[in-house]
This record gives sequence, C-alpha cells and structure tokens, in this order.
Amino acid sequence: MANKAELNRRVERVGIGVSPGVVTGPVFLLTTDGDRYVERSISEAEVPREVARFEDALIATRRQLHEVQRQVGEAIGRENASIFDAHLLVVDDRSLVDEVVRGLSSYKKNVETVLHIVSERYVQALLRVEDDYLRERAADIRDVTRRIMRNLSGVSSSALATLSQPCVLVAKDLPPSEAATIDKTKVLAFATDVGSPTSHTAIMARALNIPAIVGLHDISVRVSRGDPVLIDGGKGVLIVHPSEDDLESYGKVEASRRSLQSSLDELRDEPAETLDGYHVHLSSNIELPTDVDQVVASGASGIGLYRTEYLFLSRKELPSEDEQAAVYEQVARRMAPAHVIIRTLDLGGDKFLSLVKMPQEMNPFMGWRAIRFCLAQPEIFKTQLRAVLRASHLGNLKLMYPMISSLDEVLKANLLLDECKDELRAQNIPFDEEMDVGIMIEIPSAALTAHLLAPHVDFFSLGTNDLVQYTLAVDRVNERIAYLYQPTHPAIVRLIKNAIDVGHQHGIWTGACGEMAGNPLMVPLLIGLGVDEISVSASVVPLVKRVIRRLRYSEAEQLADTVLALESAHEITEKCRELVQRLTPELLELLA
Ligand code: PEP
Ligand code: MG
Repeated sequence: MANKAELNRRVERVGIGVSPGVVTGPVFLLTTDGDRYVERSISEAEVPREVARFEDALIATRRQLHEVQRQVGEAIGRENASIFDAHLLVVDDRSLVDEVVRGLSSYKKNVETVLHIVSERYVQALLRVEDDYLRERAADIRDVTRRIMRNLSGVSSSALATLSQPCVLVAKDLPPSEAATIDKTKVLAFATDVGSPTSHTAIMARALNIPAIVGLHDISVRVSRGDPVLIDGGKGVLIVHPSEDDLESYGKVEASRRSLQSSLDELRDEPAETLDGYHVHLSSNIELPTDVDQVVASGASGIGLYRTEYLFLSRKELPSEDEQAAVYEQVARRMAPAHVIIRTLDLGGDKFLSLVKMPQEMNPFMGWRAIRFCLAQPEIFKTQLRAVLRASHLGNLKLMYPMISSLDEVLKANLLLDECKDELRAQNIPFDEEMDVGIMIEIPSAALTAHLLAPHVDFFSLGTNDLVQYTLAVDRVNERIAYLYQPTHPAIVRLIKNAIDVGHQHGIWTGACGEMAGNPLMVPLLIGLGVDEISVSASVVPLVKRVIRRLRYSEAEQLADTVLALESAHEITEKCRELVQRLTPELLELLA
C-alpha cells in the first residue's frame, strides 16, 4: 500500500518568474478545456479519493445542467431546453457511473482516464447502431463527459468571480481580460502553462503586485485542485506538495525581499535624481483607475501610460462617452498637477473585445490592433477622444496613440481629434486646447522615421515590449522563443537611440513605458541613451528610484557609449549588470 509521502509527491517546476514574492496555498484550477487530461496510474489506496472526486464532479455537473436548463428555458422556451433532460439522464445513468467506479480498481488509473475509456465504449457502441435517435445519444454522452472532465480538473473561467477561499490560480492561459478581474484577497498568486514576461497577463500580475510564474508548459495538467503549492514568482519556481525545508528556505527568501522592499519604501518622497543632479521623470503605468492609489503610494510623479483598453474588456456594452469621461476625470483629478498619459484603445494582440466583432486572426499582434482598429471604427475611437478631451481641463492629461507605423496614421488620428474638438466647441463643452498629443514608438518603422513623425507630435513614448517583438520577430507571448526576446539586442539599442536623439533635435521629449524600463538592470542604459521619462508598474517604482539615486549621469552616458560598440545582447546585458552590481548589489541579489 502506498504511504502518504508517495501519494503527496513533491514536484518542482521552473518557469519564468514575472512578478516576485513567495506564497503557498491550495491550487484552484482554471480550465476551459474539458478534453484535455493526463493519464496517471494510481494505487489501490488512492481509489477512494478518486471516487470522491468523481462524485463531487457529478454533483457539480448535475447542478450546472439544471441551471443551464433553467436559463435556456427562460430565454427560448421550455421545449428547447429538453436537450438537457437527455444530458441529465447521462449523469444519472447508474450503469455508466458504476462502471467508472469499478474501473478505478481494475485499471488502476485516475478517474479522468477511466471516465474517458468507459464513456468512449458507450459512444462507440451507440454509433454502431443503425438508429438516428441512439446516435444522437452518443453526442450527449460526449458533451456530458466533457463537462464532468471540466469539473474534475477545475472550473470554467467565469467561476473566478466566485472564489471563496484564498488560493493559487493555475491555468493553461489566463487572458488579460480574466487577469483584470482577479480579486487580490482571494488569488494569492498565479501560474500558467504559456506566457512570457511581457505578455499583458504578466504585466497585470505586476500591477496587482501578486507573485506569478508563466511558461510552465504543462503545469495545468500536472496539478489537481486543492494540491498545496509554493510559488516563488521572482525565481519562477513552483513546488507542488512543498516540504518543511522548502517552506523554511523560501520563507527566508521572502523575508529578505520584504525587508529590502520596506527599506526602498523609505525613498518614496525622495527625488528620482542621480548623484550628480540629473533628474529623471519617474512615472507609473496603470491598467485600471483603481491602480491610482498604488501609484500615489509608490511615490511616482505621474502616469506615463494608462492602458485604457481594460475599461472595455469583460463587459457586455461599450463604455459610453459619459462613463469614460468620468473615469478619466477621476484619474486626472487624483494625479493633478502630475501628468496622466492616456493611451487610446490598444485592442487586438492579446486583448480582445467580445462585443464588437474582432475576427480571429492568424497573427493578431500584427493584425487589426490598436490604432488600426480605432481608425477603422471611428465612432468607437471618437467616443474615447471626446471623453478624454472633456476630462482634459480638469487635470494634466496627455493623449497617446499606440502602434503607430507611419505618419499617415498620426495625421488621420489627429484629424479625428480635430473633429472631436470642433464638436465640443460647437456644444460649448470646455477642454484643454493645448493638450499634448504623443505617439508610442513600438514599431521599427516608427523608430526609423522618427524625424518624419516628430514635427506632428508633442512627445514619444518607447513601447519596448512591442518594439522588441516587432524588431526581432519574436512573439512576445510565446514562451518557446522567450530566449530570443532580447531588449538589449544591438538593433533595439540603436532604434531607441535614434528615436530619442531625433526627438531631442525636434525639441520633444521621449519616455519609456515598456517593461524594459521597469527592469532595474536596464535603467542606467535608458538614462544614458537619453530618455526623459521612465514609466513602470507602481510596485517597481522604488527599485528603479534606488538605481537612479545611486547612479551618476556621467556613468550612464559612458555605459550607453560602451554598449553602442558591442555586438550582442549578452555582452550588453553583462555591461548593464556590472554597473548595477556595483551600484546596488543587494538589488541584484534579489533579482537573481
Ligand atoms: C509596449 O509595447 O511596450 C507597451 C508599453 O504597450 P503594451 O505592453 O500595452 O503593448
Ligand atoms: Mg505596445
């Protein structure tokens, strides 16, 4: 008979740590895929546990079917809901259920495997019969089996909102729209099979300040609901059934991280200034208006990127002009006199709207995204532009267009903005006539033609997440090629330098709001290349400030000069690391 230790085997997996912090908690599996399961051998001692899991899943399935039947009945009539009678018959079919239970002992496999074997046997038998009615029953059995599988492995994603216990969320993928609905008091951390540090889900984890690991390949089928796990979101380590030693050693890691964090918090009111007096505008990125509290607490001196698309995700209707204006006004007032850069809708890529038809594309990051979508949907775009204008005189708002690839797009967007201004003037609605308008430099063509774009805008902001993806042809959310995703590639450094230099020649400033700016290792390089603003997740503001305050501007300039002569991303990263190691060794220890 297997002993307890064998049943609760310790498993350690390493993925990509994208948001630091150590936590432990029970797994909550989030799955939308009922066809996927892992075949696992079990001992006789595990049979009762598998039977209990099966019974729980049957109860949940029955409850869901009754609920769906009720909803469908209400919506389109009781007669159309009768299909669910057939589904309920499958759940209550004792011969199928008993066969699964008996199969656990004879096959010595987990319940998912046995359920699959038994239900497929029924399906194949029904499909062989020359009777349409019975053939349809085969489809019912497959549907219900899928639903039971889903309940065995976890729950559908919509159940996120109903979490009652603190847990560690494990999922194949967690779309940004789902991540945005996470309740921090319930979700201690999350871990996903796919993803990379610059996926919007990872960015959201840092904004929420909860530990997270992505790129764990198959973790969602390796753990079961309720398994205890330990997550180190800095190192990217996930341990299922952690030992006492794990808890102790990772506890120490977390304690030193927290003590460093609180020493950094003391910098809150200090200026973001180098030792030789060079001031850097240190701002923060936000996804939701509620993030502003954290921004204020972090000591950031503005909002360098407000990703407004989150206002549009996970909802049934588009936000109206009034609703948007109220939200932008709230953020503007809260931050005034500090600036807030409102980025217009950046839908597409990995953020989709369920309401407006957004076709499924082969290459969504290179498809109908951001400004392309907005220019094709002028009503949606103009609603947002009017809302921003209406809030603009109530604080210090700036507007920014994402994903600009050519001057033509800037001119078209500005034309629509002018139309909105005319409409507001005609209605005597006040707005800031001088509101600055900038663009994101995140496509190589924009970085290379900065001299054509600069005369038409008030500022540039470097979107390094996309700039790296588009320059190096590396999908930013694909963990398989994450090793090729190199912000210090010589091509990236040159594009950044070109945009900044050209901006300065035309008298406009350049910020950096991609994740590269939030990596303390890269901060001296960006400063040396001449960025005027650094905008990062609120949780990273103190780390970045520490680096700035230990740095001399002359060292940063020297670093940039040295780096421009180097040949590989690796060499450049090492130079950046050497400098930060010298300035703040304790930070590097934390980042290692
Ligand atoms: C970027 O691309 O660097 C950026 C800041 O925008 P996003 O991450 O939202 O694409
Ligand atoms: Mg971008």
